[in-house]
Amino acid sequence: MRRLFLTDMSATLAGITCVFVFLVCFFSLRSTTSYLANRALASQTTVMVRGLKEAVAGTRRELEQLPSIEGLNCRDGLSNILAERAFQNPYIRWMSVERAGETICRGGLVNRHTGPAGHFYRIDDVWSIELVKGKSDVVYVIQRRGNVEYFAILETMTFEFESSIDCPRCVAYEWDVDRPDLVARSGDWSQVVIRQTEDAMIEGIRTRVALGASQSYVDKFQSRGRILAAGIAAIVALTLSFILYGLLVRQTSVVSLMRQGLRRTEFLPYYQPIVDGRDGSVLGAEALVRWSRRGKLLPPAQFLPLAEDNGLIGPITEQIVKKVLEDIKALGWVGTNRYISINADADQIMKTDFCESLVKQLTDSGIPGKNIAVEITERSPFTDLAAGRDRLLCLTDVGIDIKIDDAGTGFGGFSYVQELPVSTLKIDKIFIDTLRAQDDAKRPVLDAIIRFARESGLSTIAEGVEANEQVDYLVKAGVHAIQGYVYARPMPAERLMSWMKEHEMETPGMIAGFR
Ligand code: C2E
Ligand code: CA
Ligand code: CA
Repeated sequence: MRRLFLTDMSATLAGITCVFVFLVCFFSLRSTTSYLANRALASQTTVMVRGLKEAVAGTRRELEQLPSIEGLNCRDGLSNILAERAFQNPYIRWMSVERAGETICRGGLVNRHTGPAGHFYRIDDVWSIELVKGKSDVVYVIQRRGNVEYFAILETMTFEFESSIDCPRCVAYEWDVDRPDLVARSGDWSQVVIRQTEDAMIEGIRTRVALGASQSYVDKFQSRGRILAAGIAAIVALTLSFILYGLLVRQTSVVSLMRQGLRRTEFLPYYQPIVDGRDGSVLGAEALVRWSRRGKLLPPAQFLPLAEDNGLIGPITEQIVKKVLEDIKALGWVGTNRYISINADADQIMKTDFCESLVKQLTDSGIPGKNIAVEITERSPFTDLAAGRDRLLCLTDVGIDIKIDDAGTGFGGFSYVQELPVSTLKIDKIFIDTLRAQDDAKRPVLDAIIRFARESGLSTIAEGVEANEQVDYLVKAGVHAIQGYVYARPMPAERLMSWMKEHEMETPGMIAGFR
């Protein structure tokens, strides 16, 4: 019921999930980007510097006041503006214009080397100098390294080549001589490297803003973070809700296909013979449900769990029982000792009208109860054994035989045998498999189950028997009823009839319908 409600609500549920996931993703991503932005700023200021706030504010102001530099060429004009700004603003060390991650123009203070002796410029390190013009207090030098040309104005005459100088107010420009396109365009970026104080050992903060824009790096980062967070959150939310919607709709559609299948009688039993291993006679058969849809045959594992969850197991079983009763007549088994087993689990017996419905169908058909058996799987438990007993007595009262399926694998064990009106244990395939494995540790369990059945006065059936040597072992151990691929796979009713004829011819000792 709950599942049906959910499946009918697929779109609403998917919508709610979408909004919920979006909000969760958005807010968590947004706080993450804010955090990262602040971390990015903080990590660049690990050197504790006096005047940091002013430096940032000063830089921002500088950028806000930057005149339009669009269209300016680096060599004539732009580098001057940048260098001047750096020169005038005590906090700025360099300003540059970048395009696609490449510096097209840079202007600022001369590279500074720091050391224990204070700040100085090592002319020999940095500049292989070509003296351009000398004045009393200004020296112009040019240096080429690769295709980068540095141009520096050194405000002092007190240096000598090959020596170090202290030049806190020297400026330098730099450009790429091979690049024709040095004209600033809108969409370029300007970058400012701050020097926080005169004295500090500076790495500097990088503030990067769009040309002419007034937002700081952090603001930018945060606003971009918000857009990014919204984008990612939307993608995640939509993807998840599409998947959810797909799953729900698929489920809904499988459920509605099952309903349609019920109307079209697409559920039918396949029969697997149960054979006496001693003489090959057929004792009966187990009815195993199949869904025959568009020429394909679906095994129970693919639809039974969904049918159980959606309350369709009852109608499906009714359809199976109806066909089983018809087939018992068609097979000519009515009134013989041969039976057909029907599967049910504890939930179905306790929570649906399985027993009443089976008894009614049986009575209506006029077939005696002994031609029908019910296999109850041990895998799901009877929570209330006394109530379970009452339900099952309603079946045994009309002669239906009760068998414990998958014996040894589940909950039941001794209590089922003691409390429920059970006649037979069907020994699960996992124990039968031990008969083929060499030296298997579970073999003693098989022997113990057989002994337990004998001592409790119960019959046994071995299921999942695939090889003759298993049949031999089981027959010797007193398990005569054998079911498995060793005789036949599950098959439709018509095939069961012809199979029986062939089998009868191959097994002359078989006493048809006797057991
Ligand atoms: P189960 O009752 O234990 O049925 C035996 C399963 O083992 C069947 O699988 C059968 O095809 C398979 N089998 C039989 N002999 C051999 C063998 O020698 N080797 C191997 N490897 N397998 C063998 P199937 O038909 O897929 O059924 C699976 C389960 O679905 C059944 O297990 C039963 O628990 C459940 N089931 C089948 N039909 C119904 C039904 O009408 N109602 C309910 N409630 N459950 C059903
Ligand atoms: Ca079974
Ligand atoms: Ca079984």
